[in-house]
Amino acid sequence: MIGPIRTYTVLPKLPERLRPLQTLAYNMWWSWNADAVALFRRINPDLFEALDHSPIRLLGATPQSRLEELAADDAFLAHMDRVASALEHYLNAPTWYSANFPQDRTLWVAYFSAEFGIHESIPVYSGGLGVLAGDHLKSASDLGIPLCGVSLMYREGYFRQYLNAEGWQQERYPENDFFTLPLLPVQDEQGKPLLVTVPISNRQVKLRIWRVQVGRVPLYLLDANIPENSAEDRAITAQLYGGDQHMRIQQEIVLGIGGIRALRAMGKMPTVCHMNEGHAAFTALERIRILMEEQHVDVDTAWEAVKAGSCFTTHTPVPAGNDVFPLDMVEHYLGDYLRSMGMDRQRWAELGRVHPQNEQEPFGMTVLALKMANVSNAVSKLHGVVTRKMWKDLWPGLPPQEVPIIHITNGVHTQSWLSPEIATLYDRYLGIQWVEKPTDFAIWRRVEQIPDAELWRTHERARERLVAFARQRVKAQLKRRGSPPSEIAAADEVLDPDALTIGFARRFATYKRGDLVFRNPERLAQLVNNKDRPVQFIFSGKAHPRDQGGKELIQRVVHFSRRPEFRRRVVFIEDYDMNVARHLIQGVDVWLNNPRRPLEASGTSGMKAAANGGLNLSILDGWWCEGYDGDNGWAIGAGEEYTDLTYQDEVESRALLEIIENDIVPVFYRRGADGLPREWIRRMKRSILTLVPFFNTNRMVEEYTEKCYLPSHRRSLQLTADQVQQARALAEWRRRLRKDWNQIRIVHVDAPTHETLRVGAEFPVKVRVHLGPFRPDDVDVQLYYGALDAVGEIVDARVAPLQPNGATADGDVLFTGSVPCSASGQFGFSVRVLPKNPFLPHSYEPGLVTWG
Ligand SMILES: *Cc1c(COP(=O)(O)O)cnc(C)c1O
Repeated sequence: MIGPIRTYTVLPKLPERLRPLQTLAYNMWWSWNADAVALFRRINPDLFEALDHSPIRLLGATPQSRLEELAADDAFLAHMDRVASALEHYLNAPTWYSANFPQDRTLWVAYFSAEFGIHESIPVYSGGLGVLAGDHLKSASDLGIPLCGVSLMYREGYFRQYLNAEGWQQERYPENDFFTLPLLPVQDEQGKPLLVTVPISNRQVKLRIWRVQVGRVPLYLLDANIPENSAEDRAITAQLYGGDQHMRIQQEIVLGIGGIRALRAMGKMPTVCHMNEGHAAFTALERIRILMEEQHVDVDTAWEAVKAGSCFTTHTPVPAGNDVFPLDMVEHYLGDYLRSMGMDRQRWAELGRVHPQNEQEPFGMTVLALKMANVSNAVSKLHGVVTRKMWKDLWPGLPPQEVPIIHITNGVHTQSWLSPEIATLYDRYLGIQWVEKPTDFAIWRRVEQIPDAELWRTHERARERLVAFARQRVKAQLKRRGSPPSEIAAADEVLDPDALTIGFARRFATYKRGDLVFRNPERLAQLVNNKDRPVQFIFSGKAHPRDQGGKELIQRVVHFSRRPEFRRRVVFIEDYDMNVARHLIQGVDVWLNNPRRPLEASGTSGMKAAANGGLNLSILDGWWCEGYDGDNGWAIGAGEEYTDLTYQDEVESRALLEIIENDIVPVFYRRGADGLPREWIRRMKRSILTLVPFFNTNRMVEEYTEKCYLPSHRRSLQLTADQVQQARALAEWRRRLRKDWNQIRIVHVDAPTHETLRVGAEFPVKVRVHLGPFRPDDVDVQLYYGALDAVGEIVDARVAPLQPNGATADGDVLFTGSVPCSASGQFGFSVRVLPKNPFLPHSYEPGLVTWG
């Protein structure tokens, strides 16, 4: 190997007239604007295709003569100018945020994620989490939320997948060429790369910062691969989810601590940090350290202020899926750093453990994030229930349904996922407003006005494109494996552009059961090979490099696809990425999802399919529990959960084939005299108008803004004002809580006994509480009441506050109120005391409760 003595960069020499192309190529807005995509495609469609749809690589690879030609092509120039002014308009138009929250101009959100999926040409994502983060940025841009993204710039990104002759997954890690990525270096005042330093163990690792512009929103990417670092440290940002736990914790230190330092160095300290998954939880530590240093406050005070400005989103419904590190490893990498803030081992064990005294328990990043955030959320309604149950021990004494973790259901950035044809159709029949108001149900109702024939033709074109794409990919796969020419030629005959097409693409993890449909291969073979009503399947997806079970699933699917009875009807497309995803979700008739409930936190690919007129066939898990209304797709089962997994697979695979055979196939192939499947089209419309306005990231980011960002921002402003005065008071109050809470006792409850009441009556209650050193306004005394179940427990409990109402001679306080009797039946109530403080998001947060 010969290392260069100096490196230099060669950029294409764009004719002056084509300069707007450069501007467009460096703002990822182009990727969700169909007219902009068409503009780049027009330069050289085949090259654009071959270069991962990267405008920068396209411009670099286009011969100078072609560029000169374009600079003299009036039609091209008109197209370019139109797109350039659309971007200009987009960047300057008033937004949802500016219209609704003019008084919150100082909000500045930093959204931290280990991965961002913006576009296939920036390969720093692995799957759902990253794509969601990318769509979050795009919608934040649309809505004008003052927000930036923070992540790592991986030299190799996530692996590229190919299969060997045995159908076993192989991994390739091609290096990213940073100069053909839309990366802008962040520089200091002298124009030199801005560097920040992050402490890892006893080293100081240096990071440089890149910026990717996503519409209005900047995404900052941290890069340790610079000559100032040792070879070992340079490797920290080599791979996404590569390496072992040591690598992982170092990456998370870079993301969390390095990310905050980068923002600070740029003069962009956030008022609110949003941690997307526990990977980013170390952000809170660095913000605490900075506040301690700047305001000369203790760690508890800083913690209050930082917590008020922190939000956390968890995506993991299984305990094993959460990131954990041995406490000794935390000590090894961060010990000095934490001690410098006055935190000893006991203190950080408290931060990262559910049960701090349990020496067996490792340090959990999700636990840290839950303790550091003042608003935490799950990503679908069902996932909310699962998550609250999973973490209930962090709030002992609270019923699981009251555990303070809310849910904000995921979405997709609709515009990014639509086929250009269907986007045009929406423009025509919905009006162009659907772009600016994708959450408006009234606008989406107009889908009903799209003529059936037009919607169907549009969808058929997308299916044809998918089939052509699949054939071409299968051919390339065969060629690469050195298959005989006859076999390669036969790839032109796989799939049928007119057949009912079912897509299944996602990470291959065992709980997602990618092979479920093959559980009864004879029956499936009959189904797919039906002469008049054929069915075909397209699969795609990667398994994590260390997930043997996932790789075996892929191999099984591939083996089936090679059997003669399936060869033309089942294909596996290698190297699932956003490009493959886009072809699939745009072209399929049915999008299949059969995870083991409740292990799919949300899932988003089905939402992308729905936006393009695809119909979902799914287990009632994740988002589909909320989306399915009985008429806008199909549900496998009724939301059952099983303990016998083999039995579950048996039942659900049978149900799956039955639905396809008895419901889906007949509706798809029932054609009128005009050749149109009218009932199918009706369902497509139902699916679009019921699902698209809700399951999009504009709705989602609006919810984040209203439920997380703004309340956090306002609380954090209050707590930090006047040299963090309120945070000091709150820390002091919390110290008192911890010390003296056990003095609180419910002394006596006075209520009518054994009485029969009529609906509409009220049930008066008087409670005597011993408050110890606390004042009545330090506490929330509540009635907790509801119907009793068969074993005498309160279900669907409701809460009513009681009011302080005098004191007894010996200093106890009386609280009174009443329970309304709004329904008949057997009821019960209990009484409890919770801490109350106007600077807390709610009384549950401190995790203290005294029951009567
Ligand atoms: C949308 C998307 C995902 C996430 O979809 P799921 O339904 O969660 O599987 C994963 N990978 C890619 C490339 C995607 O585009």
